[in-house]
Amino acid sequence: MTTVQGKIQTLREELRQHNYRYYVLDEPSISDFDFDVKLKQLQELELKHPEFADPNSPTQRVGGQVTKNFNTVTHKNRMYSLDNSYSKEDILDWEKRIQKILGDVVLEFTCELKYDGASINLSYENGKFLKAVTRGDGFMGDDVTANVKTIRSIPLVLRGEKMTSFDIRGEIILPLDGFEQMNKDRIEAGEDPYRNPRNTASGSLKLQDSAEVANRPLDCLLYQVVAEKNPFPTHYETLSHAASLGFKVPKTIKLCKNIDEIIEFLEFWDHKRHELPYETDGVVIKVNSLHYQEELGYTAKAPRWALAYKFKAEQASTILNKVTYQVGRTGAITPVANLEPVELAGTIVKRASLHNADQIEKLDLRLKDTVYVEKGGEIIPKIVGIYLAQRGMDTEPIQYITHCPDCGTELQRKEGDAKHYCPNEFGCPTQITGRIQHYISRKAMNIDGLGAESVELLFKNGLINNFADLYDLSPDQIIPLERMAEKSALNMVNGIEASKKIPFEKVLFALGIRFVGETVAKKLARHYKNIDSLMQSSYEELILVDEIGERIAESIIHFFSDQGNRLLIDRLKNYGLNLSIDEALFADQTEILKGKVFVVSGVFQILSRNELKKSIEDNGGKVTGSISKKTSFIIAGDNMGPSKKEKAESLGIPMISEQDYLTMLQ
Ligand code: AMP
Ligand code: ZN
Repeated sequence: MTTVQGKIQTLREELRQHNYRYYVLDEPSISDFDFDVKLKQLQELELKHPEFADPNSPTQRVGGQVTKNFNTVTHKNRMYSLDNSYSKEDILDWEKRIQKILGDVVLEFTCELKYDGASINLSYENGKFLKAVTRGDGFMGDDVTANVKTIRSIPLVLRGEKMTSFDIRGEIILPLDGFEQMNKDRIEAGEDPYRNPRNTASGSLKLQDSAEVANRPLDCLLYQVVAEKNPFPTHYETLSHAASLGFKVPKTIKLCKNIDEIIEFLEFWDHKRHELPYETDGVVIKVNSLHYQEELGYTAKAPRWALAYKFKAEQASTILNKVTYQVGRTGAITPVANLEPVELAGTIVKRASLHNADQIEKLDLRLKDTVYVEKGGEIIPKIVGIYLAQRGMDTEPIQYITHCPDCGTELQRKEGDAKHYCPNEFGCPTQITGRIQHYISRKAMNIDGLGAESVELLFKNGLINNFADLYDLSPDQIIPLERMAEKSALNMVNGIEASKKIPFEKVLFALGIRFVGETVAKKLARHYKNIDSLMQSSYEELILVDEIGERIAESIIHFFSDQGNRLLIDRLKNYGLNLSIDEALFADQTEILKGKVFVVSGVFQILSRNELKKSIEDNGGKVTGSISKKTSFIIAGDNMGPSKKEKAESLGIPMISEQDYLTMLQ
């Protein structure tokens, strides 16, 4: 090693150590000035000797890289949401549910604060920071590596060898004092202050200039390790180890032996949280054993092994001025409360959701009432009550609309439906543009170069009336429109053209059939393989498909029985869109296990648990979490819980080995 290279390495090592002491441990051992001198030395050496460049050098923290478009990246492991709870009863119910699945075992829990920021997935390889991706929709997020690298408390090189390649998840936050300082600076510069730390933190991740991000006092608090090979048996030990690797894992995490200890934690932090240097809106309770976490698995939305507990939200009172009505793409009407602006948990609230007519009635709401608004997890706050003592003579009853605010058609309300609908499906402007906007949206056809506003513009100018019309658009029709130029017109047409390659399941979702969300669309695509067999399917056949209930089946039949919709699909077909699945993707799939229900329990030798589950599903079988009379087989690995074994025996359900299963497949 040359002396220069040695010098560079020593400086990097020293600076890393100081960074860690300052930003993670909060125990600096040199002055800022000395730190800057060393950093400068390193910068100069690196400039003179580009052959020793390293993307994870401490000099890379200052940023400077400009990102115009953030790449979309698919998460290796989905980033789930959390189920919420609001009371001790909710927590007891949760415990009962998981005990039932696991068969009454002794459980330990961890309690962590729920940090309020933007979630992030950090990937490490061979002890080095590789990539940072936002949560996005949970399946895919944005690659914000360049920006995240500037956050000093995130290690770029790890301090240990036990775990070197893994993902770790956390929350990027803006501590309150840093946030206040940023606002002071803004006010001095004559700019509007930011509204709240959380939005500012997540907005920071999407700044184009990483040097600007480097100037913001962001921090990252870690809460979960996702590793193929994890030498630790519990969540708590894994996180403790992560802390020793250099990550900032808040010390507020606590191991709890029972629900009483959990409740104690909640009560303690309900008061104490106001003294924390950052915002928190709750606590996350997790099953500590990673083995039991695996046994419990996930629902469609959240892990079964974790539960968020929300602190009682902050409330504010204000006056209800007016109720306005929004029309959705399916024609559903949503009443919206227009409020006298009021500050609530750091944001100014002007509107609150009212859901439907019943809710207005239930609350006995009147115009000019003083109402309590509360902010839950949702972005739009809700009205939770009325200050009746304050009700004056000037309040007026709310007359719920009888006709569509958009097209004037008389509204309908079907039996059992809480919402009113505008039945003018093909003539109501908001419904028409809403459907097209859904079609082009990110989770559906993800059309670049075409946004919600352009859809309205194209519609107003009579160029489109439905999503199939998009494929007939030509640049010279678009260019003359206001705010359009040749480049944007070309981008739009190219984006539309590119959507012809989008896979069938997304097209199916994009059609906007009521109740057919992303997951259902996937199920239908896999089952029916192409649009024709789906369209020919009867109601009776539909409800036999896994996870398709009466409501969904009815809606599908209703959609395809419409002549207009059939015409649209014919047109999509002619334009060359994917209306059948790519068979190659399903080549390994069979129906051998059709009708069989499996429970997978324990640790396996040949396949991982996930591979085993996937294999069952790929071959037409179903995997469930708990043993019941409906279970056909239990695939038992090592360390299967004794109570599960007992239950299986008492119900007489065959227990087979991994090898037996593989033989069954042949
Ligand atoms: P929600 O978005 O309300 O469903 O809550 C789920 C989100 O809570 C996750 O995506 C995390 O980003 C965030 N979160 C904050 N603190 C924690 C924690 N200690 N454990 C797990 N998730 C957390
Ligand atoms: Zn209407």
